[in-house]
Amino acid sequence: AIVLAIESSCDETAVAIVNNRQVCSSIIASQISVHQQYGGVVPEVASRQHLETINGAIAKALEQAKLDWGQIEGIAATCAPGLVGALLVGLTAAKTLAIVHKKPFLGVHHLEGHIYATYLSEPSLEPPFLSLLVSGGHTSLIYVKDCGRYETLGETRDDAAGEAFDKVARLLKLGYPGGPVIDKLAQEGNPLAFALPEGKVSLPSGGYHPYDGSFSGLKTAVLRLVQQLEKDGGEVPITDVAASFQETVARSLTKRAIACALDYGLNTIAVGGGVAANSGLRKTLQATAAKHNLRVLFPPMKFCTDNAAMIACAAADHLSRGHTSPITLGVESRLALTQVMKLYQPAG
Ligand code: ATP
Ligand code: FE
Ligand code: MG
Repeated sequence: AIVLAIESSCDETAVAIVNNRQVCSSIIASQISVHQQYGGVVPEVASRQHLETINGAIAKALEQAKLDWGQIEGIAATCAPGLVGALLVGLTAAKTLAIVHKKPFLGVHHLEGHIYATYLSEPSLEPPFLSLLVSGGHTSLIYVKDCGRYETLGETRDDAAGEAFDKVARLLKLGYPGGPVIDKLAQEGNPLAFALPEGKVSLPSGGYHPYDGSFSGLKTAVLRLVQQLEKDGGEVPITDVAASFQETVARSLTKRAIACALDYGLNTIAVGGGVAANSGLRKTLQATAAKHNLRVLFPPMKFCTDNAAMIACAAADHLSRGHTSPITLGVESRLALTQVMKLYQPAG
């Protein structure tokens, strides 16, 4: 089906149109430069920016796709999780358009969207597979059983992977967001320069949790390392610190993803979320997976971070199964991926 979707859960106002797994248009109006002066996303500023940008983005998406409202078969928006005020702007716009143009309306779970991003580069992919979801707010290993059916097998006990990149970038005074700049610096540095903790989670019974991880200890270790290097008086070898940090994150995520895929007999790992763009993770995970005869898939670079094409792709799959959302659907700041089917009512 041809679906138009809006994504406004954080600091990107995005509108896209897809025909199932094929992208017809994708508009991403980033607010990053507005939030950069504050060193992070300011919720009220985000809502206002969405409001100012959204109508133009919708018009552009239709224009770029060369489609009119008559050809659109469903209208969707991210409804959870995310910033409530920001989500409300996109969801209200989508509901209004659905009423005005008499189209089915669908709310979409943002993380289901990140999982669906892989279909945009690999349209023949079908469940079951393992999703390694690594974004600004989440780090999970998810058993993808079918559209709307997910089981979380592992997750971070504290910081998300993207959050770790952002926090380390802040302490290295590299600005926001941290992922892209650390990725770039790491390419010039030695990943073996400094040994850092991988963030294993101890089990009460002894040993370590096979799929859960932790990134806050790693961030603190980087802070201590930088403080020590500064105390020693020399210049901080920032590229080596970035490379060693990135390598540690990549190794830690890779170990747990591979163990999980092997234990559950899943031969494909689909990576999603902003950190799926990371060159170190891409390299380490690909190389290790190849040794175990596992297939690793990444979304196209521009669909790793927030976008509306991934939301439209998820909505199109739900719509093809007769799932639509009640027009009374609200937004939620938090919603487990296992609750996705609560957003839909059966056809008719
Ligand atoms: P969530 O999806 O959990 O709600 P989010 O939408 O804010 O969070 P995304 O847009 O998926 O997260 O990803 C943004 C995150 O990805 C940021 O933390 C950013 O630093 C990180 N990121 C982006 N590019 C890279 C990269 N090349 N390497 C590492 N991290 C990156
Ligand atoms: Fe996201
Ligand atoms: Mg973002």
